[in-house]
Amino acid sequence: MALGLFLLRLLDLEGFWIDVLLALTVTYATYTWMHRHTADRLARAQKTLRDIRKQRFDELEKAYVRPGDELNTLLWQVYRNGQVLEKEIELFRRTETYRRDFIGNVSHELKTPIFSVRGYAETLLDGALHDPEVSRPFVEKILRNADRLHNLAADLSELSKIETGELKMSRQLFDLPQLITETTELLEAAAEKKEVSIRVRIPSNITTAFGDPERLKQVFVNLIDNGIKYNNAGGHVEVVARMLPDHRIKVTVADNGIGIPSHHLNRVTERFYRVDKSRSRSQGGTGLGLAIVKHILAAHEAQLVIDSQVQRGSTFGFTLPSRVPDAAH
Ligand code: ADP
Repeated sequence: MALGLFLLRLLDLEGFWIDVLLALTVTYATYTWMHRHTADRLARAQKTLRDIRKQRFDELEKAYVRPGDELNTLLWQVYRNGQVLEKEIELFRRTETYRRDFIGNVSHELKTPIFSVRGYAETLLDGALHDPEVSRPFVEKILRNADRLHNLAADLSELSKIETGELKMSRQLFDLPQLITETTELLEAAAEKKEVSIRVRIPSNITTAFGDPERLKQVFVNLIDNGIKYNNAGGHVEVVARMLPDHRIKVTVADNGIGIPSHHLNRVTERFYRVDKSRSRSQGGTGLGLAIVKHILAAHEAQLVIDSQVQRGSTFGFTLPSRVPDAAH
């Protein structure tokens, strides 16, 4: 600028031309400043897009929206897209890991009974078929393994229907004491075989509960069945319902069986997780029962609370509404 004025002085040009030169200088300075300012931010947007393309999400530079500043809004949008993509990729990776683990677990679970069935069938064909001392127990073992496969197929189909949302839960008032009685009757024979008694304690002020009776029956079957399976001869399973002050019903299924060591407690509801694999398998367990229970209860907005002590027993509890929720107030 000073140099310009000096030149003008030198050339003895003043007045109009000075104004023109001043205007030009200001325009140029503004343009340069604007260009640098814009170019910097465009370069930042390009770098962010590059980072997104190369999945370098930890390098994304945070941007902020400034009202009236379109370029910053663009930077913010690019940054947000990066964040969304990072979450999607993370979810995809987790789903992929889950799928791989799940298939690995399922094939592992299938292999054992299939291997046993083959083994027993081959031994029978190799001659044991004509030895009644051996053939009968072998056929019984084949049947037990077929039952295991049947249980696994049923639980897997149930779990996948629940997880994919294919299985719609119904919501209705139903007779809770009757449902519990029906369930215990269903399991009476299994309990007798293991010399375990089932007790039910439901006060008379509990008549109805609100939820899906079919699915909740499954919850009771799984919990009571576990109470029988993981118990000792002479043990008991007790189903208790109690009305809470907020008109919800607290239900517990408690046993005095083998219990669950505390470090396993928060994992027993995971698919295929078992404390004692061979005990579970010998009882026809699939390792999916509590995962199914947890899902069904979650669909009822209820949480499964587990309390257990080794060699003392376990208690599984959850709450259900006793009335149609809207009518409760
Ligand atoms: P499983 O088909 O093996 O019984 P579950 O999902 O029902 O599968 O239970 C998972 C594991 O939790 C069982 O293998 C067992 O180790 C433990 N478990 C469940 N219920 C009880 C219980 N009432 N007492 C002791 N252990 C239990």
